[in-house]
Amino acid sequence: MPRTATHAIHGARHMVREPGAPVVAPINQSSTFLWGDPSDGELRYTRYANNPNHTVLAAKVAALEGTEDAVALASGMAATAMTFLALAEAGDHIVASSHLYGATVALLRDELPRRGIEVTFVDPVVGGAEAVARAIRPNTKVVHIELPTNPALRIIDPAPIKELALAHGATLTCDATFASPANLRAAELGIDIVIQSATKYMGGHSDLIAGTVAGSAQVVAEVTAMSKLYGPSLDPHALWLLDRGLRTLPLRMDRHNSNALELAHWFQGKKGVEGVVHPGLPSHPDHDLAREMLAGFGGVVGIVLEGGGAEADRFVRSLSLAVAAPSLGGVETLVSQPRYTSHAALSSAERMAVGVPDGFVRISVGLEDIDDLETDFGTALRAARRG
Ligand code: PLP
Repeated sequence: MPRTATHAIHGARHMVREPGAPVVAPINQSSTFLWGDPSDGELRYTRYANNPNHTVLAAKVAALEGTEDAVALASGMAATAMTFLALAEAGDHIVASSHLYGATVALLRDELPRRGIEVTFVDPVVGGAEAVARAIRPNTKVVHIELPTNPALRIIDPAPIKELALAHGATLTCDATFASPANLRAAELGIDIVIQSATKYMGGHSDLIAGTVAGSAQVVAEVTAMSKLYGPSLDPHALWLLDRGLRTLPLRMDRHNSNALELAHWFQGKKGVEGVVHPGLPSHPDHDLAREMLAGFGGVVGIVLEGGGAEADRFVRSLSLAVAAPSLGGVETLVSQPRYTSHAALSSAERMAVGVPDGFVRISVGLEDIDDLETDFGTALRAARRG
């Protein structure tokens, strides 16, 4: 039994149960800790990810993800990059889904090859596990996917991909940011290493940048070792904020899920809206798989406006409650156009191939009263059509 709400609040039950002890673990805003010689035990230093705030958070994330261990790093990209650096070295090969967050694509396409790691992109959404099978080589160390994909919200069944990875001694890594551990039990589905941009739903309040990596103790130790060298350790204050955000993750996700589903239905058939993208809609190509795999359909809704990019620009400029800003997963509704933000690194043709035409507006539906959101979006749709 996942017991997500209990884990989100109590984590690994770090609380000291004695009169006067703080109910909330304090912020240890200290870079270093008293240590004279090895008889003093573990040498603590905040860059080593063993500040007490790290320890508390790692135990909570591991409990939420259902993995042996976890580590929190300074951003989602730090979590992704340190994972790849831990699992692959010069001469190795990575198979990556083409449906990924733009900076992850840039890291794999432009950066890792400079360090001698070869990368092959495949499309498991269209080509299934066979596409992965065709790309796997004897030196493949990592197969990387995103679930659900950003921003087309495509869902891939990881089971056959996991079988392939296992048979070839590769590690299956997955960026599950759009689901969070509340909506997707990624490790239970066979994912070896679960990566989250904790900046999004896990933090939940658009006030911190963080990432987490969860999986076996061995791989988490290797990721932590990379972080010790490259340095993207998470600051104690951000760790404390993230821990606070996590306490309400399941509760917030329930509301993100219900608000987004309601809004997705509401957008359907509205004048000027060519398409609505949300896995909770029966029209979504992966609706059935989403019902099987996810505990909730998530808080993101995509709309495609008939008038293309120009109409999308006018729509976004006309909003007065929803906020035009990149990112997602906060309590407030955020709206962005992936062609300018998360997918700016892709060409127009590459964006089309992952389901993001110009005119695509990504809405991270927040926790506001849904009537107020509908009023705001209704006004913006009319204003965008007037030109
Ligand atoms: N993964 C996904 C799916 C994202 O959407 C993002 C950011 O938007 C990231 C990773 C990167 O996270 P961060 O900004 O915390 O580095």
